[in-house]
Amino acid sequence: MAEWEALTAKLQELAPYLFGILGSDLPSWKAVKTLWKAHRALGTDGVYDLVKLALASTRAFTDEHFTSPKVKALMASWGMHLDFAPDISGGALFSFLETMGGQLFGMVIGKGGASTMIDGLVGVITEKGGEVRCGARVDEILVSGGKAIGVRLSNGDIIRASRAVISNVNPKLMPDLLPDEQSARPTVARARAFRPGLSTMMIHLALDSLPAWTASEAREYNYVHIGPFVDDMALAYTDAAAGRLPSSPTLVVGQPTVSDPSRAPEGKHVLWVQVRVLPLEIADGRSWDEAGEGYADHVMGILEQYAPGLAQQVIGRAVLTPSDLERYNANLVLGDSLGGSHHPAQFFFLRPVPGWGRHRTPVDRLFICGAGTWPGGGVGGASGAMVASIVG
Ligand SMILES: Cc1cc2nc3c(=O)[nH]c(=O)nc-3n(C[C@H](O)[C@H](O)[C@H](O)COP(=O)(O)OP(=O)(O)OC[C@H]3O[C@@H](n4cnc5c(N)ncnc54)[C@H](O)[C@@H]3O)c2cc1C
Repeated sequence: MAEWEALTAKLQELAPYLFGILGSDLPSWKAVKTLWKAHRALGTDGVYDLVKLALASTRAFTDEHFTSPKVKALMASWGMHLDFAPDISGGALFSFLETMGGQLFGMVIGKGGASTMIDGLVGVITEKGGEVRCGARVDEILVSGGKAIGVRLSNGDIIRASRAVISNVNPKLMPDLLPDEQSARPTVARARAFRPGLSTMMIHLALDSLPAWTASEAREYNYVHIGPFVDDMALAYTDAAAGRLPSSPTLVVGQPTVSDPSRAPEGKHVLWVQVRVLPLEIADGRSWDEAGEGYADHVMGILEQYAPGLAQQVIGRAVLTPSDLERYNANLVLGDSLGGSHHPAQFFFLRPVPGWGRHRTPVDRLFICGAGTWPGGGVGGASGAMVASIVG
């Protein structure tokens, strides 16, 4: 407990510098200034500790601070939201921010559903005279004289850009949207090597009552993680990376109706299960369309151990396999929900690939934001704000 409180205090001490870096384009003078301030406040050793936190694996970090396997698992399961298995360098930072930060600052869920946030953003755009077009696929980014000048939609419409084209398409897919003479340039083509993280399956359930979690206090929370332990997470990741279906995947379970009953008819509940992590391609040659429902049954069997009777509470079930996710959104390459792996070689100033940093691309006036760019995945909107401040 004392160590937990010490780490909570540590986050409060580090917050101005950590969030300062996360909110700065990389590399940038703003980031250098933040590091300089950190140096003045924390000293050289303090800055080295910050760097160590940014590079440590979750296992190394939790072994250093805790003895309880449950507390270690609690932190490590947050790393599994991204593609940080317990032994992957860089996982400690996200686990630290989510556990300590979640407790200190709380978490936000949109009342009525996540669409409230999207409606809000669309409102801001239309208020400023902008227009949002849905179902309008961009087939090509138009380039003239080395400058991005607009986009061509799949229906043939051309939209001209007076100042810049800003894309939030997964960087890996960007070369295919550019004219051949651009995509053939080595600096452009290297974005094809941007690596996806491992994939995700979503299971959505309509329930006639909340799960009867054996850990009864879990009924009060929006998020329940089933690791269950650090070694299980490490094995799940290794299995998935080798193309095998993990026997004990990490389950991130959301039960938003605990705090927002408006998401279901009165007295009923919804539950989503994010299955982490799964193979991008299954080694035995089956497609996700073939393997999906059977594997979802396996996951339901695991849940049943923690919430006995769940199967009888289910009114409806929808499974989204990694292939379904990619069909819904081309950015989710092979079902990677992260918009690209977050391992250190693709993070910080290296995101997405060298030469594409600071939200610029090798094509003049073509900017890029979104999960594939710094500071990575999630619905924070920071990369878009960074591009907005560049383009003005
Ligand atoms: C199942 C799942 C659960 C998640 N849970 C969480 C969570 O709990 N918390 C959290 O913070 N984050 C979560 N994330 C991650 C988060 O949703 C993403 O990181 C974030 O939405 C990425 O935003 P983005 O703008 O980069 O791209 P996206 O939100 O993926 O939007 C990209 C858009 O571009 C469109 N597009 C792609 N290609 C083209 C084209 N050629 N022409 C036109 N349009 C195109 C796509 O259709 C899509 O609408 C989750 C992701 C998934 C998949």
